[in-house]
Amino acid sequence: MLVTFSSDATEAEAAGALDHLKAKGANAILVPAAGVWRIVILSGQIAPEDIGFLPGVQEVRPVLSPFKLASRETCPEDTVVNVAGVKIGGGQPVVIAGPCAVEDEEQTYKAALMVKAAGAHLLRGGAYKPRTSPYSFQGLGRRGLEILAEAGRSVGLPVVTEVVATDDLELVSIYADVLQIGARNMQNFALLAAAGKAGKPILLKRGLSATIEEWLMAAEYILKTGNRQVILCERGIRTFETLTRNTLDLSAVVAAKVYSHLPVLVDPSHATGLPELIIPLSRAATAAGADGVMVEVHPEPCEAKCDGFQALTAKELSQLIEEVRKGAECR
Ligand code: PEP
Ligand code: MN
Repeated sequence: MLVTFSSDATEAEAAGALDHLKAKGANAILVPAAGVWRIVILSGQIAPEDIGFLPGVQEVRPVLSPFKLASRETCPEDTVVNVAGVKIGGGQPVVIAGPCAVEDEEQTYKAALMVKAAGAHLLRGGAYKPRTSPYSFQGLGRRGLEILAEAGRSVGLPVVTEVVATDDLELVSIYADVLQIGARNMQNFALLAAAGKAGKPILLKRGLSATIEEWLMAAEYILKTGNRQVILCERGIRTFETLTRNTLDLSAVVAAKVYSHLPVLVDPSHATGLPELIIPLSRAATAAGADGVMVEVHPEPCEAKCDGFQALTAKELSQLIEEVRKGAECR
């Protein structure tokens, strides 16, 4: 159920209603957005008449969506996630770029310079890599985090990096401006809940075989901790297609924008694995309503320790940023 307060209701009235609901055994959460107090009742036997009479309450109505906190039903306004001054959602498209993995200082620094020079907004790079083969490069761990954070700082870009295990959260949170939860961990519910509590923005990738609803329910695990800074990222799903690495599901982008208030990014690098498709699909992504894209770049794609085949060059990244802008103009 959604409890909406009148625009002149006070924080004390909203907090009082929350206490009242909790005393009645409800699991409820206060959601401040757009200058209006709202309470979402997640579970518990509460009837509208149990709360409708409380001071400041304007309306009580059911929430039909299973992803209650991610749904536009409980928050019609676009959520804007602010990462060190970079706004993701509800405005200009953002571009996150960087290498698949942090390999060493020189590679990361060169990549950071490329990303900055092209005009991208955030630097990405994996220090913990969830690889299909245990024999593939697994990332530099703590050293990788240090290198990425230093490269980002030196060019003035916030950094996004993946956290693969709950035990690493504290360490990764020291260095990351955005915590990435990868496709393979989208339903690692313990990691989602713990990451939510770290208090950082979280970029949640869609699982390889996850439905749109499963993806939004995964976001719900984070939102339920009280952390509203969730960024969704469509990165392609498994289909019968083999020409592309995965199949970019733009309908999921539109659906996520229509049914949820969270910002949505697209990762055409992992979706296609083909540099020649990454630029046109980035344009298509923002034309479809995506709030930006995340792509892989490398100063020497042929030398990359991972995913070099899909890494863009500096020139391609500049073209991509131009196309992303053109796509956004179509909306
Ligand atoms: C990545 O972005 O580095 C990555 C591993 O992507 P995904 O989780 O989408 O496979
Ligand atoms: Mn990669």
